[in-house]
Amino acid sequence: MSGTAGVGRLGNVETEPESVARRIARPLAALERSGYALADRMPELGARLMGWLDELESDSDALRRCRELVRGLDSLPPDRRADRLRKFTREWRKYIQQKACPNRAYGLPSQAMSQAKPPETPLPEDGWGVDDLVRRPLLYEKGVGPARAERLKRLGLVSVADLLACEPRGYRDRSRLVPLDRLRAGEEVTVVGELAGVELIRGFRGRKSRLCALLNGEGGSLVLTWFNAAYLAEKLRPGRRLVAFGKVNPRDGGALVNPDFEFLDAGEDPLAFGRIVPTYGLTEGLGQRYIRTLVRRVLERYLPGLRDHTPEEAWAPLGLPGLAEAFEHLHYPSDLDASVRARRRLAFDGLFLLQLAVLRERLRLEETEGGRVEAAGELVRRALDRLGFELTGSQKRVLERIRHDMARSRPMNRLLQGDVGSGKTVVALLAMLLAVEAGWQAALMAPTEVLARQHHRTFRRVLEPLGVPCHLVTGGVKDRARRPALEALAAGEPGVAVGTTALIQEGVVFPRLGLAVVDEQHRFGVAQRGRLCPPSTNVLVMTATPIPRSLALTVYGDLDSSVIDELPPGRRPVDTRWLSGRRAREAFDFIREEAEQGRQAFVVCPLVEESPEKDLAAATARYDELRDGPLSGLRLGLVHGRLDSARKERMMRAFAAGGLDVLVATTVVEVGIDVPNATVMVVEEAQQFGLSQLHQLRGRVARSPHAARCYLLSGRGLTDAGKMRLRAMTETDDGFRLAELDLELRGPGELLGTRQHGLPDAALATLVTDRRLLEEAREAARRLLEADPELEKWPLLRRRLESVYGPGDLGVVA
Ligand code: ADP
Ligand code: MG
Repeated sequence: MSGTAGVGRLGNVETEPESVARRIARPLAALERSGYALADRMPELGARLMGWLDELESDSDALRRCRELVRGLDSLPPDRRADRLRKFTREWRKYIQQKACPNRAYGLPSQAMSQAKPPETPLPEDGWGVDDLVRRPLLYEKGVGPARAERLKRLGLVSVADLLACEPRGYRDRSRLVPLDRLRAGEEVTVVGELAGVELIRGFRGRKSRLCALLNGEGGSLVLTWFNAAYLAEKLRPGRRLVAFGKVNPRDGGALVNPDFEFLDAGEDPLAFGRIVPTYGLTEGLGQRYIRTLVRRVLERYLPGLRDHTPEEAWAPLGLPGLAEAFEHLHYPSDLDASVRARRRLAFDGLFLLQLAVLRERLRLEETEGGRVEAAGELVRRALDRLGFELTGSQKRVLERIRHDMARSRPMNRLLQGDVGSGKTVVALLAMLLAVEAGWQAALMAPTEVLARQHHRTFRRVLEPLGVPCHLVTGGVKDRARRPALEALAAGEPGVAVGTTALIQEGVVFPRLGLAVVDEQHRFGVAQRGRLCPPSTNVLVMTATPIPRSLALTVYGDLDSSVIDELPPGRRPVDTRWLSGRRAREAFDFIREEAEQGRQAFVVCPLVEESPEKDLAAATARYDELRDGPLSGLRLGLVHGRLDSARKERMMRAFAAGGLDVLVATTVVEVGIDVPNATVMVVEEAQQFGLSQLHQLRGRVARSPHAARCYLLSGRGLTDAGKMRLRAMTETDDGFRLAELDLELRGPGELLGTRQHGLPDAALATLVTDRRLLEEAREAARRLLEADPELEKWPLLRRRLESVYGPGDLGVVA
């Protein structure tokens, strides 16, 4: 990639499936690792996946199935979504294998992914770092063959490092052994003894079989009972000693029913009692005992030689343990406090690495030359005349700031935050005009095709009369139509390009890129932004999801930040009402009233069904219901995920032109459009949406100078958190406050989205529960980089940083 001022391609060279695979890999890996528990913390994952898939040619069945599975994903309830994602992962894997880039698909080292054993590389004699263990497949460990390795992989456990860092789901305190004459009904106990007799009572006529064993131990004897476990009869030989753990059943004369147990015969490591014992999230074919034993073995083999990559002065003052101790106590804590400190240390590491990456980036950017774009602002003045309004004070301030940034000989890297409708896009357009006036090119990347087309339409209205070319570059624009645009761009002709991620694909070249604008939702990570354009290019990142300061620091810490904190004049807050389903009538009556005044409305109904066919059926059925019932006589349009982009586009256009009264939409994305004449937003099943999504939806009608109303209709399945969200919506329209609340209610994953922040779950969690830890990590990172900017004294740390966040030269990161 070229590093000279503003010259170079917008992207890196890669085949399409590979580049898409790489982008899809991270969220999928995170999902697999979390057993899909993260699925509900990745808002609009479906939309994003679909965007990526749309970049691929649709000639294969596997890909078609992938698309089907992603369609409507975002509006499914969490468990359905997880299920669907699981299926998607399988289909996607098939597709990727067909396309012959199998191993890169999951962002894991390819050797660890393959079935064949690669030669085992010896560990360094003077000790090893976590990175050496990342490159060490579990396949080599005793007790792990290809079949088990495959199962472990399903838990996201491929390397030794994965296993070390795998957080137990919980712990059981089995440090206290209870004598057999002191058992109390209902208590969870650990007992030790010798098997005296075993009896299998076969089940008949569909009844469960029952295996009873008599255990003799200190203080007396006890019956252990297992149901449907005839296979145990083989193993439970009289005379064997074992430790059992379970709940004392008040019926059955105080037996332990289905207890966990472990033999204590010679040579067995008694991991299962006399201590605090970890329990792990499991998958079929891998039992607790197996994983415990494997973990224990790995701890014993690798911890003694493990070197800590993080300098002691960073973690010791916080009362945190060293790395080896942290891993030991994560799995086998001496007491529960120790496990808390261990997790905190590992979380600290995640945050510390991220802050190092962010701050190092910042230092580098400060030293980068280039991106000098100077213009007097003549085009801006003419554009403002055409727009017919005056900028708000906030907009003026931000634009001036951007002009100033761009005119310096260092590239701008600025984050622009502002509520929906605060006028960010207008500011971006004007900033792009500054670049064009100075003889440069400018590009804006939107998160979806629909939004890209909308921006293109509105920009063109302003730009064409000024003689500034405005090109559209998206996956949906056919090659033939795209060629003239690409040629003009490649020739270095000053102008504006609007598009999707297609802008950073192969074949799109900007020889004179003066400004790159990234519109919200992409949530590019520190490393990813580097892929957008050469480091010497001015970059403006816009987000309409206000980010609480703690999170902003985490993920945008390398950017300067501006906020538009003022709405264009005449905007009134949207009158927001929450109605339970039975009172929905009010909302539809209001739509009719507004339609009589010539105004328009959105009705958003989330998809609930599992299969795309049913999705479509449900959406169509709802549409029919509305058309024949509460909205009869009005002109209704329907957009849903299965419409191709041309038909979607036509429907949007009809609505924007006033040819429809009501737009019924089945996903959030499709309504991300700007129709000032729309004054009513009805969200059905509003409890299914996150706060920021609801706020975004409401923002769609906040743009109009007319009084607007938003109805949130709640259906069944309203949780306490759901109630809090809906109530908050009716009480405030301050995006920042809602974002803070969202952070508390749904955790940071919601706000960070699928952004590739590289943070382990433990670190993510602390962003809410332990916000100080981030500040501590940032401070420690700052001190370290100040003393040693290239981390020359810390080769292990440097290596770790590079393997997580890339070499930091803004190169490509897998
Ligand atoms: P955002 O990108 O922040 O959501 P936009 O830039 O799309 O906001 O602006 C929302 C709407 O408000 C657009 O229709 C735009 O033309 C209009 N608008 C923007 N700035 C002003 C202003 N200063 N005065 C009046 N209308 C404005
Ligand atoms: Mg916008």
